[in-house]
Amino acid sequence: MGRDLGPDCRLCRREGEKLFLKGARCYTHKCAVSRREYAPGQHGITKKTKLSNFGVQLREKQKIKRIYGVLETQFRNYFLKATATKGVTGHILLQFLERRLDSVLFNAGFAKSRTDGRQIVSHNHVSVNGRRVNIPSFMVKPNDIVEIKTDDRSLATIKLNVETTKERKVPGWLEIDAAKLTIKVVRIPTREDVTFTVNEQLVVELYSR
Ligand code: SF4
Repeated sequence: MGRDLGPDCRLCRREGEKLFLKGARCYTHKCAVSRREYAPGQHGITKKTKLSNFGVQLREKQKIKRIYGVLETQFRNYFLKATATKGVTGHILLQFLERRLDSVLFNAGFAKSRTDGRQIVSHNHVSVNGRRVNIPSFMVKPNDIVEIKTDDRSLATIKLNVETTKERKVPGWLEIDAAKLTIKVVRIPTREDVTFTVNEQLVVELYSR
């Protein structure tokens, strides 16, 4: 499955807020959103358009897609699956995205960003319940045990990630053992476990048009 390979900071500037796509840099003064608070492109600094309802819904969908690093087709498939699942569609959609293996590594602090988590998974450094998994969209479920299985130099990088992100709060649905580099999935994430500001209802309205 592909992904947007353009500059990450440009995506944040387009949405007008920090999406935390680049790890440590996002927390420093080097963050492009802090330095240039206007949309990217030639007219970004001057052009201020009032968004229609549709525009607001569209921007919210783009924001969520960019936070999780998924493209349109995959995102729509998550939505369709969410509509077919019992519960509040918007919440289920976010649950599916949170349960992606790349997102789990980020939430646990084993990866600097979701993009980094994606790379760790696709480079074959992760196992789930003892079996290697190299699919970043792999969806974890309660009682799964995610382990880092590598002994090359990536191990040092992952340990460094754990060290540098240790101040970050790990969501309650995950239990981590930083020494053994394991993550236990305790339960399905709830809406409250999603820590960034997002209005998933706007996405439901957009796709229901
Ligand atoms: Fe976004 Fe991080 Fe770049 Fe800031 S540094 S613009 S939060 S990706």
